[in-house]
Amino acid sequence: MADITAWALRTLKQRYGYDSFRGRQLDVITAILGHRDVLAVMPTGAGKSLCYQIPACAPGRNGVPALVLVITPLRALMRDQVAHLTGHGIPAAFIYSETTEDGRREIYTAAREGRIRLLYVAPERLSTQGFLRFAQSVRIRLLAVDEAHCVFQWGQDFRPDYLGIASFVDRLPERPVVAAFTASATPDVRDGIVRNLRLHDPLRVMTSFDRPNLYFGRREVHSKTERDDIITTYALSHRGESGIVYCTSRARTEELAEVLKTAGINAEHFHARMDERLKIDVQNAFLDGSLDVIVATTAFGMGVDKPDVRWVINDGLPSSLEEYYQEAGRAGRDGKPASCLLLWGRHEFEFRRQCIEESAGSALDAQQDREKARKAALERCSAMEGYCTTSGCLRAYMLRYFGEEPLEKRCGTCDSCTGRSSLHRGAGAKRAYRKS
Ligand code: ADP
Ligand code: MG
Repeated sequence: MADITAWALRTLKQRYGYDSFRGRQLDVITAILGHRDVLAVMPTGAGKSLCYQIPACAPGRNGVPALVLVITPLRALMRDQVAHLTGHGIPAAFIYSETTEDGRREIYTAAREGRIRLLYVAPERLSTQGFLRFAQSVRIRLLAVDEAHCVFQWGQDFRPDYLGIASFVDRLPERPVVAAFTASATPDVRDGIVRNLRLHDPLRVMTSFDRPNLYFGRREVHSKTERDDIITTYALSHRGESGIVYCTSRARTEELAEVLKTAGINAEHFHARMDERLKIDVQNAFLDGSLDVIVATTAFGMGVDKPDVRWVINDGLPSSLEEYYQEAGRAGRDGKPASCLLLWGRHEFEFRRQCIEESAGSALDAQQDREKARKAALERCSAMEGYCTTSGCLRAYMLRYFGEEPLEKRCGTCDSCTGRSSLHRGAGAKRAYRKS
């Protein structure tokens, strides 16, 4: 045990240049190296990747090389991580739909010979014959399932291919350790992951989702003009700070960015349909601080690590509290006080419910499945509505939603606790360093 700790710390320092592990990273690594399955629920940015990357550096048994297989649905993430690992001298590769047969064969050979430590694939790869044959011909020490909530059938990110992971594992000559990682886990989702991935008595690791330095506010609005006014006023009184406004449509990002620019705010819009070049320019300008405000759809933010975003405003309803927390959570990564405001309208809930009734579960066949998917979507909607309308502490509401018992009934740094219905910040600093 002490040996593993010392080895892991040495590896962390040598490979990544970091001095210590964060949160419960070391517990996860120790479990994996001790052949125990893991369910790790940690918020975005907590450092889940290191938990499966460090074990990949451990020596193989009796000189037989061992591979870490990473399942992830995100192609951009595969590419980034492989580039990052290679940069740190850890040989890694990824296979995706466009990898040629020759390319795949090369990777398989390299993995068999121990020249690749980590291999990233999308879940659909597991069901192909060629990949299965390869997987049966190497020793896989760890199967790391990233974004593991995708295995949960009634969740919004459900990926049917994730359900094939357990039977893939069953077909391997030697069962690897299976470790599941997610940042999105209500108690239902957690149980779904353990069941569907058939984890064996997993070590369950939960890191708190609380972000004490964030102030949470929400306000009901009745018109677009009112939204425009609130956002403009806020941005004007926080000039020079980095802020993100999330909108629910592409057209709205363009329209609102114009409104802000007319008011003299240094803002640009961002959405998936923009020219690639322009997207990169806008993103880079925001990252280097030459652009203050980015007005974006949910397309913005994944993998964008800007520590000093001081405020995030959601101009309209996110599809769930998970999504909201993800977006709001892009504020204050540096641990300094930051604010998150949600603007919502009653009609948005009506509209959302209508859409759910019309389309829920259309991708699934059985009547029973459709019904479950519909119910789950309605529950997500009600949870969102609860957040908008509760008179209780907003932080506590959110943490309970994530299955966590808040430390205090009233946090003191949300609209409910302060009795304000506006964006406010400052008191956050007091709590920012309270827990560590
Ligand atoms: P997650 O997948 O949980 O969202 P990542 O694995 O992408 O988080 O890690 C987020 C960032 O934190 C990365 O830049 C990573 O290098 C950094 N990081 C992870 N662990 C540590 C650590 N122990 N010390 C310092 N930085 C770390
Ligand atoms: Mg991650």
